[in-house]
Amino acid sequence: MSTQIKFCSLASGSSGNCYYVGNEKHGILIDAGIGVRTIKKRLKDIGVALESILGIFVTHDHFDHIASIGVLGEIHHIPIFSTPEILDGINRCYKVTQKLQHSKRPIAKNKIIEIGSFTIEAFSVSHDASDCVGYTICQGTKKFTIATDLGYINTEAAQHLMNATSFVVESNYDEQTLLENPSYPTYLKERILSNKGHLSNHALAEFLSINYQEHWQHIFLCHLSKENNSPECALSTIEKKIAHQRFNLWTNCTLIALPRTTPTEVFII
Ligand SMILES: [Zn+2]
Ligand SMILES: [Zn+2]
Repeated sequence: MSTQIKFCSLASGSSGNCYYVGNEKHGILIDAGIGVRTIKKRLKDIGVALESILGIFVTHDHFDHIASIGVLGEIHHIPIFSTPEILDGINRCYKVTQKLQHSKRPIAKNKIIEIGSFTIEAFSVSHDASDCVGYTICQGTKKFTIATDLGYINTEAAQHLMNATSFVVESNYDEQTLLENPSYPTYLKERILSNKGHLSNHALAEFLSINYQEHWQHIFLCHLSKENNSPECALSTIEKKIAHQRFNLWTNCTLIALPRTTPTEVFII
C-alpha cells in the first residue's frame, strides 16, 4: 500500500474552498465551496474522477465551504461527513437549495474514523459558524492536517498542527492592511480580528516560530484575503519572523501560499 498522500487545492479563499486529498486509488474532498462543474473539471485535469471520491469532509457551514455540498451529496451520492451541528447548519443555509438527507454521515470530534486507506480525525477550531472543525488525515507515516478559518490557534489545533508532517493553515490578513482598509466597516474588522474570526499572517508566523517541528515538510497557507493580503505579504511576514530564529525552518520544509481562485499542481506529501 502506498504511503504517499496527494494534495491539490482546487480553490482557497472567501470566494470558495475545496481541497483534494488522495492516493492513486481514491480520495476525499475537504469542503465544496465552488461549483460542481468546476470541481469535476479541476479533478479531471489532475486525473481524478468524481466517482473515486469516497466522501466530503466539511469544516463548517459558511457558504464559501458548502456551496455544492447538497448536490454532491444527494445527486452524485457522495457521503458528506461532518459533525451533526455542521450538517444541520448546512440544511438551514437558505443558499443551499439541495438539502442533505441520505448522504449525511455524522461524525464526532476526536474520534478516528477509517475511509479507504486513510484514517481521519476531526478536531475543534475557533470560528463563528454552527460548529467548526479541522481534520487530520493519516496514511502510513504521513499526517496531513487542514485547519482553515480560525480566529486563533486553540490547544487542539496547535496539537494537530505540531504532530502533522504537512499541513494547510489559514493566513488570512495583514493586520495593518485590514485596519487601514476604508472599504471594510468597523463591525467586519472586529469580526475578522476576533478569536472567532480569521488568523493573521503575524499570528501564524508567531505560532510557527515558537512551535517549529523538524518533521514538518510542507506548510500550505490558505484562505488568503483578496483585499487585505497577498501571497508575497503572507510569505514574507512568516519568512521575516523565522529569520530571527536560530534554526532554519526552510531547509527541511516548503512554504507555499495557495492561490485563491486557481487550482494548484498535485503535491506529493
Ligand atoms: Zn471561509
Ligand atoms: Zn468561515
